[in-house]
This record gives sequence, C-alpha cells and structure tokens, in this order.
Amino acid sequence: MRRIVVIGAGPAGMRCAERLAGRGLAVTLIGAEAELPYNRVALSKFLAGEIAEADLVTHDDPKLADSGITYLPGTRVIGIDREACRVLTDLHGPIGYGHLVLALGSQPVCLPFPGADLPGVVMYRTLEDVNAMLAAADAGGDAIVIGGGLLGLEAAYGLARRGMKVSVLHAVDRLMERQLDHAAASLLMRRMAEYRIDTYLTAKTEVIEGPDRVQGVRLADGTVIPASLVVMAVGIRPESGLAREAGLAVNRGIVVDDCMRTSDTSIYAIGECAEHQGACCGLVAPAFAQAETCARVISGATIAYVAQADATALKVAGAGVWSAGRIDAAGAEEIILSDTDAGEYRKLLLQEDRLVGAMLYGETADAPWYQALITSGAPINGLRPVLAFGPAFAPESTGVHP
Ligand SMILES: Cc1cc2nc3c(=O)[nH]c(=O)nc-3n(C[C@H](O)[C@H](O)[C@H](O)COP(=O)(O)OP(=O)(O)OC[C@H]3O[C@@H](n4cnc5c(N)ncnc54)[C@H](O)[C@@H]3O)c2cc1C
Repeated sequence: MRRIVVIGAGPAGMRCAERLAGRGLAVTLIGAEAELPYNRVALSKFLAGEIAEADLVTHDDPKLADSGITYLPGTRVIGIDREACRVLTDLHGPIGYGHLVLALGSQPVCLPFPGADLPGVVMYRTLEDVNAMLAAADAGGDAIVIGGGLLGLEAAYGLARRGMKVSVLHAVDRLMERQLDHAAASLLMRRMAEYRIDTYLTAKTEVIEGPDRVQGVRLADGTVIPASLVVMAVGIRPESGLAREAGLAVNRGIVVDDCMRTSDTSIYAIGECAEHQGACCGLVAPAFAQAETCARVISGATIAYVAQADATALKVAGAGVWSAGRIDAAGAEEIILSDTDAGEYRKLLLQEDRLVGAMLYGETADAPWYQALITSGAPINGLRPVLAFGPAFAPESTGVHP
C-alpha cells in the first residue's frame, strides 16, 4: 500500500497515525503546530497552574521514534492536488499519498468587534494562546473573557488562579446554556463569584477599546470594563478551507460517510473538521472514535462509525458540572433533585421510558452510569423512583445496570 498521509497532529490525527503505523503501514503525519503533540483538553489545567507545560506532551521524541511515524511538525499543508495524489506543504514541498486523512480540527471564532485585532486579544485554542495568556497574567492587570460557555469559564478560572481579576461577558441569560438549565447555571455563577470572577449576563460587547492595545471592553449599555487582556471564547468553526479548495463536498464541516470517507474515496476526514450525518463533533471522545474507525477502514476492515451521546464536563475545581444528551425538556418528563444550599442539583429527562438527557451539578461520580443509560437507549423499567439517586440505588432486578 502507498504511503498514508495524515494532516493534523491533534488527538484525531495522532490517534489515527498511531493505529496505522501500529499495523505496519507507512505513515507521514504533518502538523502545523511547532510543538510536540500535546493534550489540548488539558490546556485549562496548565493555564490554572495545576500541571506543568511538560505534562501536556503526549508524544515525546523517543515515543514518536518508536511509533514508526514520519512526523513533520511546524509544517502547514497549503493545497491538495487530488489528480496527482499529493499534498503541497509550506516547508517540505509536495508529498505523495495513497490514502489521505484530514484531521484539521477547528478554528476558534473571532467575532468582528471593533478592536478585535488589537494586541492583547487572544483566542483559546492552542498552547501558544495559553502562553500568551500567561504572559499577560505575569504582567498584571484585569482580564475579560467574552463567552460564558465551557471554554470561556475554564479560561476565566485559570486566569483567576493566576491572580487576575476576571469578568466574563456572556451574551445569553445563563452560563453554559447549551449544557445547563437556569437552576444549574445559577449555582455555577455563584461558584464563579467565589473565585473572584464577575459574570455579566445578556452582555452585548460593542467595542474592544484601544487605541494601541487592549484597554477594556465597552458594552452596548455603555458599561466600560477595564482590562489588559481579552480572551475570546465564543465557539469554533470546522477547518474546512483546504477541503473546499480541493473540491471535496463540504457543508459546515467536511462531509463524510460512516467509514469517514469524503466525496473522494481515497481521502478521509476525522475529528472536528468532519461532518458525519449532518453533525460536527466538538469533543475529544468522538474524535478518537472516528480516528479508530478510519484507521481500521484504511487497513481493510468493514466497520462503520456510530455517533454516541455527547457528554461535557467542566474542568473547574470545586464546580462539578456534567451534562449529556438533551437538555431541553420539550416533550420529555423531568426528574429533578435539588439541594441548592448544598450546591447539589440533578435533572434527568425521560422520554418513552428511556433516559434522553442528564445534567449533574455538584456530585458527578454517577455520570458514566447516566451516560451509558442514554447511549444504550434501554428502557428504565422500574428504576424511575430511584433514578435520580444513581446506580447505588438501582436494584439488580430492574436489569438496567449498563
Ligand atoms: C482549552 C480546551 C479545552 C478543551 N476541553 C475539552 C474537554 O474537557 N473535553 C473534550 O472532550 N474536549 C475538550 N476540548 C475540545 C478538544 O480539544 C477537541 O475536540 C479536540 O482537540 C479535537 O481534536 P482534532 O484532532 O479533531 O482537532 P485539533 O485538536 O484542533 O487538531 C487539529 C490539528 O490540525 C492542525 N492543522 C490544521 N490545519 C492544518 C494544515 N493545513 N496543515 C497542517 N496542520 C493543520 C492544527 O494546527 C491542529 O494542531 C477542549 C478544547 C480546548 C481548546
């Protein structure tokens, strides 16, 4: 088999390359980032000072050498010549492929506020971004995070731990609205305040004030919040430009079938850049699962990727937040367990005797059990009276021990 080229050394690309090389296939892995492959998910822990930069590295030089992968870091693919079956790179010239895997990830969205291009405005995606935030924290001053979703809150927490006074500006009326309802979001906001993080809800950013570098943010209601650092964490966009220019089918992401094949049968797409059955993933677990599927398909197996229920956990110490499946209650029955003084809240959504969504605030140890119930789609049978209390209270006789 001719050389397999994988573009993107994030979790999806790295996993796929490892699996292919492990089967004795010749693999070249091309990554735009200059660093050794690292754990993007753990960036928040590094920002918060809970781990060192060296702890982020997933593949050091000896491990890469052992893997048999030819790794080209700091190299950007600038074009795909499908007719000649080769990719064009900015550093190593053209590289031929038999199979090509696109694992290009996403780009952070930069909202075009006046001042968004000022020095002191940082996205939250890469190790380079985190190092820029750490330099700003070392220089002192206040920080503003635009976006009160998972990434924005993790950035805010990390910067607060680094000694900055942080304000979170969120355009919606509750934090993490894609994962939490109002009750859970209020508990989370209370916890953020304990970390000296101010939250502005329904906050409409109008201008990032300069003139030469960030001085603060002015909101539409006239409020001005001073800051020397603005972190924008308002969402991601699948990296699909390369595929579009190469003439592959692209919607929001690069369209793939159940085998992770694009509209060109020798080119695959996995991870956040891929769109499978109309959805792009934004989490690492599906990116890994797609990488495994792709590696097996290229190795000759007949296998299909099956999407699982997404589960999200916030990595902020002292604020256990986990949610999976649906959070909107339309057409579903709700079971709620709430002790807000103790900071405990659970909401479960049932439809046709099945668990379709779960939200845990506070104690989250039962999360894997709820996730397995959602994923299996098994009827909960007689479990309903104890469902909110977790697996310890589920009698074996109900048959819903996943
Ligand atoms: C701070 C942070 C915290 C997160 N926390 C969690 C979490 O707790 N749980 C969770 O499930 N997910 C989390 N995520 C999301 C998770 O990191 C992503 O889902 C995962 O990294 C996606 O993997 P990927 O390989 O598809 O893309 P990426 O990790 O983005 O990797 C893509 C790589 O491709 C490279 N690339 C792109 N274009 C080119 C090109 N033309 N040439 C060469 N290389 C190219 C990029 O530079 C990048 O290195 C977090 C993300 C961030 C930023």
